[in-house]
Amino acid sequence: MKVGNIYTRRDPQGRLHIEMLEANAKRERPPKKQVDKCECCNVNESIGVASSTLGAFSIRWCAECNKQNAEPLGMLCHLIKDCQGDVADWVKELTAFHNGEYIRWEKIKDIALNGKTDKPEEVE
Ligand SMILES: [Zn+2]
Repeated sequence: MKVGNIYTRRDPQGRLHIEMLEANAKRERPPKKQVDKCECCNVNESIGVASSTLGAFSIRWCAECNKQNAEPLGMLCHLIKDCQGDVADWVKELTAFHNGEYIRWEKIKDIALNGKTDKPEEVE
């Protein structure tokens, strides 16, 4: 008897055998998407995946963002907005990549609370 991917049968002694059909293994999979850019700066090639310091978010990082203690600008802005800028001191040590450079707390806070983004790059 076959139900979905499960196949059951009884052997001559009456014992029940349950088997998984290998339908999924035979199905052709789409080519793996090439996504190896750093998700923090969206510029450099990533060197690996790790958690953000801001929470349990796994993202791809490049060596430079790692060295710069950077976090994705959008995530920082959401956090700062949620806290009305009242964040822990260690958050103020973080940087973010914006319009080709790493920016620090005062500028990040300004973008988060006042929406000054130095076009063309938009936040959110
Ligand atoms: Zn990066």
